[in-house]
This record gives sequence, C-alpha cells and structure tokens, in this order.
Amino acid sequence: MKFTNSEKLHQEALQHIVGGVNSPSRAYKAVGGGSPVYMERGQGAYFWDVDDNKYIDYLAAYGPIITGHAHPHIAKAIAHAATTGVLYGTPTRLENEFAQMLKEAIPSLEKVRFNNSGTEAVMTTIRVARAYTGRTKIIKFAGCYHGHFDAVLVEAGSGPSTLGTPDSAGVPTSTASDVITVPFNDIGAFKVALDKWGDEVAAVLVEPIVGNFGIVEPFKGFLQEVNELTHRAGALVIYDEVITAFRFTYGSAQQIYGVEPDMTAMGKIIGGGLPIGAYGGRKDIMEQVAPLGPAYQAGTMSGNPASMAAGIACLEVLKEEGVYEELDRLGKRLEEGIHEKAREHGIHITVNRLCGALTVYFGVDQITNYAEADASDGEAFAKFFQLMLREGINLAPSKYEAWFLTTEHKDSDIENTIDAVERSFAEMAKTL
Ligand code: PMP
Repeated sequence: MKFTNSEKLHQEALQHIVGGVNSPSRAYKAVGGGSPVYMERGQGAYFWDVDDNKYIDYLAAYGPIITGHAHPHIAKAIAHAATTGVLYGTPTRLENEFAQMLKEAIPSLEKVRFNNSGTEAVMTTIRVARAYTGRTKIIKFAGCYHGHFDAVLVEAGSGPSTLGTPDSAGVPTSTASDVITVPFNDIGAFKVALDKWGDEVAAVLVEPIVGNFGIVEPFKGFLQEVNELTHRAGALVIYDEVITAFRFTYGSAQQIYGVEPDMTAMGKIIGGGLPIGAYGGRKDIMEQVAPLGPAYQAGTMSGNPASMAAGIACLEVLKEEGVYEELDRLGKRLEEGIHEKAREHGIHITVNRLCGALTVYFGVDQITNYAEADASDGEAFAKFFQLMLREGINLAPSKYEAWFLTTEHKDSDIENTIDAVERSFAEMAKTL
C-alpha cells in the first residue's frame, strides 16, 4: 500500500496549518507518527484516500457518520438546503420540526436550543447550571472529554476526588480550581467529593456511557446514585450525550438506564454529519437562557437550515425499524471474531462493546474507569493500528477511541475486517 500523495499533502499542510491538522486527534502522534491518510471521498461504509486505497471505515468521523458516508437521504436534504439558502439569520420551520423530533425521542428535553458543536452545547449547560443554582463548582469524571473550553480541560490531581489541575496550557488555575474530578464508576469517591464541596457544586457533568476512554458502561445503579446524591446536594445533573445520543438506541442513554438528568448536551449524530450542537432539559432551568433569562448564549450559525435538514434526515433513517438491532448484531459478530482471533494468536485483549460501538484494549483484563484504560498497552495498539491501516481498515489513531459501525456496514465487511484482524494479530504474535 502506497501513501505517497497523503505524505505530499501532509508536508504541504505542515507549512500552513498548525501541526498539519485541524484537530489534534487526527495526527498520528499516538500511533508512531507519520502522515495521516488524506481521504478523497466516502461512500457508505467505505472511503478512498488520495492514493486510491480503499478502506472500511470504523472512525465514522469520531461518531457522527452513523448512517455511513454520503447517505442518499441526507445528501438530498443537504442539496435542497444548498439551493434554498443555507443561512438566513431568522428562525425557520425546520428548527421547530427538529426540536419536536428531539423532544419526542428524549422526553427529559422539555425545552431545547441548537448551537454548533458539542463543545458549545456542554459549555452552555454549565453556564446555565451556574445561573440557575448561583453556585460555581462542577464535578466531572476523570478521563471524560467534554469539549475544548477551559472548564473541562481539567484533570484530576492526586487522590480519589480532588480539585482539578489544568490539562492544557492557557487554562487558568483559578478555572481548574472550580472543577472537581472523580473516577468514573466510583460512587465512594463521588460521595467524598460531595461531602467536601456539595454546597458549592452547581452541576455534575456525566457521560452516561463513556465514549472517550473507549466504550465504558456505568455500573448497575451508578447513574441513579449520582442523580440522587447530586439532587440531595442541591446541584444539577448534566448528561453529556454528544457521543451517546442516537448511538445505541433511537434516543439516548437515558432510556437505556431509566434515569433522567436535569440537562442534556448533544452533538455529532444529530447533525447528520454537519456541524451541530444542542442542549436542553427542564423547562424552569432552560428558561434561564436569553432572551427569557439572564444566562446569555447566542450563535450566528445556530439552527442553520443545512444542519437542521441534515439532522432531521439522519434521524429519519435511524427511526426505521430494526436499525439498532442490526448494529447490535453486526457489533456482536465483530466482537466475537476479534476475540476468536486473539485467542488463536495469544494476543491479550479486552473488548468493551455496546450495540454498534466497541473498543479493543491491549494487555488488560477489564476497563471500568480511566486509570484502567490508561494502563492498556499503547504500543501494541499502535502496531495494530498501522497493520490494520495497511489491511484497508480505518480506525481512530488512539488506544482510547471506539470503533463505530454504521447502518451501511454489511456482513461481508465484518468478515473482511475479522480476516484483517487475524493477519494483524498473526504479525503481532511474531514479536511476543
Ligand atoms: N463531549 C463529548 C462526550 C465528546 O465526545 C465531544 C467530542 N469528541 C465533545 C463533547 C465535543 O464536541 P465537539 O467536538 O463537537 O465540540
């Protein structure tokens, strides 16, 4: 497999774009460096790079592309928007229609507001929670990514529940000191944090199913306890469902676990591949937002007709009978195949899977929190990633990311992927 054109484009990009990429996760830093592959076009479960190599895609653009690339129903909706005007700066009928679709799918959304990215959506829920409670601190779970605004670029200090330290240069320590970080799935540490700071906490920010150190489900009862304890402390529960909304079911993690937050932030899938964010929740809380209330949030591009049309079209595809059952069936087949080949070649892995999303971790027995995911073998993953790329399988270049199936993956794609896994594991086994 040749990557000559990708390498040329990357050299050019390095001269103009910082680091050559417009989001750091696209660089191959964690998988041995080198030029990322530059894609030329995508169709369904596949894409082709600028050297005409074909790939089965499991990146799905980090989640949004659940209906595959260039889905005809979404393409038609976007084309219509392109010919009737993509941005008006006035309200449109589409915003009402889409808001109603989201509310029907996720009942805790009494009121919603659209914006342009997951980052914007989560950022605003925090502002609104602070406005509503008159408090400042937030609690988040270690290793969970919530976007790139200051308050969430904060990690745990030492100890099970600690005030945060900045995770990026440029984040003021004063901002980080308003953020408390506790390990996911550790209700004991969560209680310690609330005992210590409960009456200063505005909100607890939760990825109800973690998507950012692989796919990690909450322990049974964890989300219920978080809700109960948070409310007892007079704080709000915010679910970051930027990855999880419409990924595992038509709706959100809230239906899966039978628990409702006060506010929810969304993005990714609900834009059908176009830029989008949305947040919503209890009416009395959402009424804090301007023009009704004192918490300000705005956006030139917010609710634009193209994103609305693409999002509606995407949900229409996902609402069809049997979509999530099929994603689950194929995901299970893939998981079983990966396990079988790992056993055959003596490769030590753990696979976490829910429906059509899974993560393969190397050299570990279980992953229930960030510390365990962090301890997985990054070198083995890097080797696997590079071998799979050369087999025509496109994964995210990080040991923490999920493989995402789409409605366009077929049994034959899964079989071909398992064959590629087998050859990659056989190669890896040579150096064990
Ligand atoms: N929250 C979660 C859970 C995410 O996974 C992401 C993006 N990976 C974000 C927020 C930020 O979304 P965006 O990249 O659209 O700003």
